[in-house]
Amino acid sequence: MFPPLIVGNWKMYKTITEGMDFVVRLRARIKETAGRKVVIAPPFTALYAMAGALKETGIGLAAQNVWDREAGAFTGEVSPRMLVDAGCQYVIVGHSERRALFGEGDALINRKLKAVIQSGLQPILCIGETLSEREAGQTFAVVDRQITEGLKDISAADAARVVLAYEPVWAIGTGQTASPEQAAAVHKHIRGVAGGVYGEEFSRQMPVIYGGSVNPANIKALMAQRDINGVLVGGASLDVESFAQIVEF
Ligand code: PEP
Repeated sequence: MFPPLIVGNWKMYKTITEGMDFVVRLRARIKETAGRKVVIAPPFTALYAMAGALKETGIGLAAQNVWDREAGAFTGEVSPRMLVDAGCQYVIVGHSERRALFGEGDALINRKLKAVIQSGLQPILCIGETLSEREAGQTFAVVDRQITEGLKDISAADAARVVLAYEPVWAIGTGQTASPEQAAAVHKHIRGVAGGVYGEEFSRQMPVIYGGSVNPANIKALMAQRDINGVLVGGASLDVESFAQIVEF
């Protein structure tokens, strides 16, 4: 189908120099990324330099956030067109830190997705429940809402460009990973929801990746699950050796 997608989300870590150094060391450590699609998401400030460093490596470049307009009086924001110009191919949309710390809701995320798809970038749409939502038995209801509201009025052809990232909020940066079975159950459900909207064939082709304390010790078991097509890695993507071990799982 498609190669496993391994995305490293650096969050608000690494300067330009540190990012460039990471690429040099990663390339020395991993001779080729055979059979894997590797993507790095550095902070905005490092994107342009990283695009140069990643050229001809086969490693993709993602931004961590985007605004939903092409240009305008939106101080502090960055448009999809600017991300394309800086050399990105992907952008993370709706990360739980954006939702929780910056108040992003499904309607804004939906507008961002539309703008991103229009620009030609590939969006990585993050969804996932909080601990209290899981404990209240609302996991499926939450991801259902995030998928249907997030993809509202987006055609099947456009939605086919979206990568879905299931990231249970309680597993992000906590060291507490969802078990492979817990993750797989939600991935299967997500595929069902997307299938309900866009049809079964669509849902079979849709990449659904997992995020939440992925590390070299748990990557194999997660990737052994049929419905897990890759991973979104935060903390463990900051270190060359641990990221390399995840890429080479
Ligand atoms: C993330 O930032 O999306 C993430 C999954 O972080 P971590 O791997 O550190 O839990």
